[in-house]
Amino acid sequence: MVNFEMMEAFNHEQVVYCSNKETGLRAIIAIHDTTLGPALGGTRMWNYSTSEEALKDVLRLSRGMTYKAAVSGLNLGGGKAVIIGDSATQKNEMLFRTFGKYVDGLAGRYITAEDVGTDVKDMEYVRMETKYVTGISKALGGSGDPSPVTAYGVYVGMKACAHEKWGNDSLRGRKIAVQGAGHVARYLCEHLYNEGAELYISDIIDSKVKKVLETVKAHIVKPDEIYDVNADIFAPTALGAIINDKTIPRFKFQIIAGGANNQLEDENRHGKILLEKGILYAPDYVINSGGLINVANELEGYRQDRAMKQAEGIYDILTRIMEISQKENIPTHSASNKIAEERLKQIGKIRNIYSGSSNFSGRLGELARNKNF
Ligand code: NAD
Repeated sequence: MVNFEMMEAFNHEQVVYCSNKETGLRAIIAIHDTTLGPALGGTRMWNYSTSEEALKDVLRLSRGMTYKAAVSGLNLGGGKAVIIGDSATQKNEMLFRTFGKYVDGLAGRYITAEDVGTDVKDMEYVRMETKYVTGISKALGGSGDPSPVTAYGVYVGMKACAHEKWGNDSLRGRKIAVQGAGHVARYLCEHLYNEGAELYISDIIDSKVKKVLETVKAHIVKPDEIYDVNADIFAPTALGAIINDKTIPRFKFQIIAGGANNQLEDENRHGKILLEKGILYAPDYVINSGGLINVANELEGYRQDRAMKQAEGIYDILTRIMEISQKENIPTHSASNKIAEERLKQIGKIRNIYSGSSNFSGRLGELARNKNF
């Protein structure tokens, strides 16, 4: 069970346990910080072995969302939800509608979306019970698949890193190793290929690689050999924790810039080792923030062109992060945390005198005007 010490450790505002015997729902919603706006973050469905494990995950993930929104310049807070269960066998309409009622009960303090183990269809069930949900299909006025915007953000972020490292942001002729050939990687590879990069791709599922090869030319690499490719840039776009004690000694890369979440196994230690080795690391939660930017756009009446334009801002944000990292000789993720914390502090100061609504339109404006968060 959550206790106040756990919440106080990282300043979580609210933790909500949701239980319903009829549907078998066991969920936890964590609201970390609403200084900047309503807490937005996806709902992860995972077969956690204990409720403690689920709680730890939701506390960690919700805090990460606060930082992601803050550094991206969004007017959103950080939150996340977890549903304990097997997403392959335990999903149904009633489960998600029941969960939707709990989300609705928070009256806009928390807005949900899809995450690992949940999809657009599940969010549409949630939508039947609450308006505080994003990531629904385009047909229902939502933003649909976020991957094109995420991939575009990773692409422009990679260019910012190239500029920092080589004084020129062209990726033409650069060798780039992409781990994973899923949704984000597919769009990312198209951008990179169109710019003239030489691609190396790997996936544990052959059909995913084949799909990518329908639109780009690339060398195929066995999954475990991707870390050894003699490439300029590594783009982890599959799994977390792949930057660790075993993989780092194998790297010949000069830049790591990819879409996956939680790339550093140990944020502080491995971030520092990369800095010492002169490998430029684009903090994952910054370079992949196109996904959040995409759903945040849904709150203001979704337009993909606007979401893409906003994702382009990742270039400047990363440039600022790299400047601070270099000036203060600190790892890039620490520089990025600093920017996020500074923004939270500054906006926090003016919160009491801030009308909170004038700059927002659509549903975000409505939430702000009602001061529900
Ligand atoms: P996806 O499931 O479509 O793709 C992931 C791919 O990685 C799959 O094809 C899978 O087979 C492959 N994979 C798994 N293990 C692998 C391994 N050991 N080696 C090589 N490939 C492996 O997921 P996605 O939506 O493309 O997301 C990719 C990553 O980006 C995830 O970490 C996700 O959390 C993160 N992310 C995605 C978005 C988004 O908009 N989809 C936004 C932010 C972050």
